[in-house]
Amino acid sequence: MFKENMFDDIETIENASLKDFSTVKIGGNARFVVFPKNVAEVKTVFKIACANNLKTFVVGNGSNVLFSDNGFDGVVISLKHFCKIKKVGDCVWCGAGANLFVLHKKLIEWGLSGFEWSYGIPATIGGLTKMNAGCFGHEISELIESVVCFEDGKLQKIDKNALKFGYRWANFDNKTILWVKLQLKKELPNLVEKVCFENFTQKQKTQPLNYPSLGSVFKRCEKDGEIVYPAKLIDNLGLKGVKIGGAEISKKHAGFVVNVDNATSKDFLDLVKLAEVECAKCGISLCREIIVVE
Ligand SMILES: Cc1cc2nc3c(=O)[nH]c(=O)nc-3n(C[C@H](O)[C@H](O)[C@H](O)COP(=O)(O)OP(=O)(O)OC[C@H]3O[C@@H](n4cnc5c(N)ncnc54)[C@H](O)[C@@H]3O)c2cc1C
Repeated sequence: MFKENMFDDIETIENASLKDFSTVKIGGNARFVVFPKNVAEVKTVFKIACANNLKTFVVGNGSNVLFSDNGFDGVVISLKHFCKIKKVGDCVWCGAGANLFVLHKKLIEWGLSGFEWSYGIPATIGGLTKMNAGCFGHEISELIESVVCFEDGKLQKIDKNALKFGYRWANFDNKTILWVKLQLKKELPNLVEKVCFENFTQKQKTQPLNYPSLGSVFKRCEKDGEIVYPAKLIDNLGLKGVKIGGAEISKKHAGFVVNVDNATSKDFLDLVKLAEVECAKCGISLCREIIVVE
């Protein structure tokens, strides 16, 4: 058995519902969710988890994470306290747990441009960096100057030329991202705000933002040198609106699976598998963007 205050004074919730740590509101309970406040606490969390043979998972805003109905028998690490945002010239240093909505508010206030494309993505800067998230032809990698990561008990500052990014991929492996430095450029605050809102309006038109989801479930793929957009293919196959349990392939955007009525991870994954099987019949092997945690 674990001792009562296993993580000493570090903020911890035992048997926490993972529904609260994923934007799709699905998942069983985690043995522990911990909220370290500084590097020393991050170090302690990993040390204690390792000493007790507990697996770990770092969560951002959970906007790309599907937790299992069976929960997570280990330690989920939330960096919500790493949320400071500091302006240094035309750059900003962001704690990995900084929420994009908060960051955008500051960028508008400071008149810093280049990141407007991401307005409306319900993510943290750490999750965005790990996923090399992007939209409207942009990716976070374009703006990254350097990152500070934690691995094997040590901090490491990595400059952009030592980082590798691909489509929704970056070479962080088991590193925990703690801070990210973004290079932006000066602009009039009202222009930054205008572009943010234009982008968000565009998203509202095309995405089912009124339901819990994980955004696009699948990555773009290729067949015979042609780009295949999974949402378009799934739509063409007549799968829009198909429901399993409480999950539905969105009627508005076939790339989204939405939680319409207390969906389970099984409902969600059964729909994902259905789309995969139907697309495979057309010779397209879909590749998942979402992270499934069991
Ligand atoms: C409505 C909606 C719209 C979306 N639109 C887009 C879009 O336009 N473009 C796009 O690319 N994605 C989009 N997404 C998907 C998602 O927002 C992105 O993948 C985002 O980057 C995930 O960030 P997060 O903080 O929620 O990370 P999480 O979902 O919590 O985690 C994602 C992955 O990153 C890892 N991770 C998180 N934080 C850290 C850290 N500090 N250090 C190391 N690893 C970490 C996690 O372990 C996990 O593997 C959308 C999702 C939703 C729900």
